[in-house]
Amino acid sequence: MVEKVTGSKGDFTVIVRKKARYVNEDLCTGCGACAEKCPTTVPDDYEMGLGNRKAIYRHYAQGIPSVFCIDPDYCRTFQGKKCGVCQKICQAKAIDYKQEDKVLELKVGAIILATGYDLFDATRISEYGYGRLANVVNSMEFERLSSASGPTEGHVKRPSDLRDHNLIKTKEKSLKKSTRTLAKYEKKHKMSTADFYKQFTAGNISDGDEFEKWVKQYENVREATRKLEELKARAEKFDIATRLAFIQCVGSRDFRFNKYCSSYCCMHSIKEAMMAKDHDARTEAYIFNMDLRTVGKGFEEYKVRGAEKLGLHYVRGRVAEITQDENENPIIWYEETTSQEVKSLTVDLAVLAVACEAPRGIEKVAELVGVALDHNRFFKTAPLNPLDTTVPGIFVCGCAQGPVDIPESVAQASSAASRAAEVIWQSTIEYGESHWKKKNPE
Ligand SMILES: Cc1cc2nc3c(=O)[nH]c(=O)nc-3n(C[C@H](O)[C@H](O)[C@H](O)COP(=O)(O)OP(=O)(O)OC[C@H]3O[C@@H](n4cnc5c(N)ncnc54)[C@H](O)[C@@H]3O)c2cc1C
Ligand code: SF4
Ligand code: SF4
Repeated sequence: MVEKVTGSKGDFTVIVRKKARYVNEDLCTGCGACAEKCPTTVPDDYEMGLGNRKAIYRHYAQGIPSVFCIDPDYCRTFQGKKCGVCQKICQAKAIDYKQEDKVLELKVGAIILATGYDLFDATRISEYGYGRLANVVNSMEFERLSSASGPTEGHVKRPSDLRDHNLIKTKEKSLKKSTRTLAKYEKKHKMSTADFYKQFTAGNISDGDEFEKWVKQYENVREATRKLEELKARAEKFDIATRLAFIQCVGSRDFRFNKYCSSYCCMHSIKEAMMAKDHDARTEAYIFNMDLRTVGKGFEEYKVRGAEKLGLHYVRGRVAEITQDENENPIIWYEETTSQEVKSLTVDLAVLAVACEAPRGIEKVAELVGVALDHNRFFKTAPLNPLDTTVPGIFVCGCAQGPVDIPESVAQASSAASRAAEVIWQSTIEYGESHWKKKNPE
């Protein structure tokens, strides 16, 4: 985390806090034995909360360096409980609960801001039901649900079904506990619960506090078992979501939120629909849009291929509202602008293509480095040098300067690196070749 930046073009000093990961990165081999045995499970941010991780974890499999870290907010050792399992299991002896944050001072000639974007919070459009209707998800959640390395291994399961599967597990656990209590009564009174209940209801066993509790416990277990069986029977019919609605421009091109176009969401919705169709040929995907902005080499052809070869439905019309039926199927209400008719469509899952917004905290970064933001809160750039910020020697690339897709971000990153190299080259001429070696002796 950058804490302080001083200096100017060709001669910046940056103070960086390197947070303790409680795992020695020189020793960790990334084998994952620690996470396998760690008893603490927590919701996984990377999986958008749709899956779980352990208290010792890697942010995601392809992260560099491929080293684990401990989350002290959840780890039992840091929470004052007994554990230490990961330390015992780690053959590389990499676990170090005493590791501390390090503060580094870096001398640099140029800075590149690549802080990316955040997703628009779709709960702000209450009529779409995000956060209220289980089967309305945002585009990033859909990406995780359809990813082979995601929480459902690429099978697009409905969040309501995932919730019910989890409910079954919780109910089974609590039922097991209640059944153990019944077993204690049976042992104490040397009688099966069924026999006891028969005798008690026939009035053959006299009243008593303990017997009342036993009866209550038995009746609760019977009721809980009935409900669990009902839920399990329902869960057996759960299938993957094959009727999909993609709702475009959620928070973009909307004067209430962001006036700008987020530029990449039309393409990613087409891609997501194509991937879903590829995964399951039964898929019917509807993409609700004002117009599909497929700007880029080969993008329009990709869109046409989606309709002609894969049968994707492009529906022109802004969605007014999403409701749901008794099976939690989202109902999309919209005006089809070609026929000017108000229609509804019931699907298994609705996916909101949420806007690309400047990341929360961008103001703090801007203040640290002293650069200005534009009217959309992205880093302000120079019209003739689109990767230059308002401070010489500080450059920007990717979504930190505005919404762009991956190829554009990568091209900008190369370009920003070459602008930064120019500054370094100039300062090397100015200060002499040994300048950078002296400043960063290690
Ligand atoms: C659902 C979805 C699907 C998409 N699919 C595609 C696709 O198929 N193809 C495509 O081309 N594009 C796609 N995109 C767009 C793509 O995500 C962006 O173009 C790309 O991520 C932009 O890269 P970036 O490096 O600028 O930003 P980011 O990917 O946001 O990376 C910025 C990084 O900086 C880190 N960071 C932020 N602030 C700080 C700080 N103060 N200190 C340290 N680190 C910080 C963040 O944690 C993050 O890791 C998709 C977008 C969405 C929402
Ligand atoms: S010490 Fe913490 S991270 Fe290690 S196994 Fe226990 S809970 Fe997990
Ligand atoms: S790229 Fe498409 S979905 Fe995204 S804001 Fe622009 S028009 Fe809307």
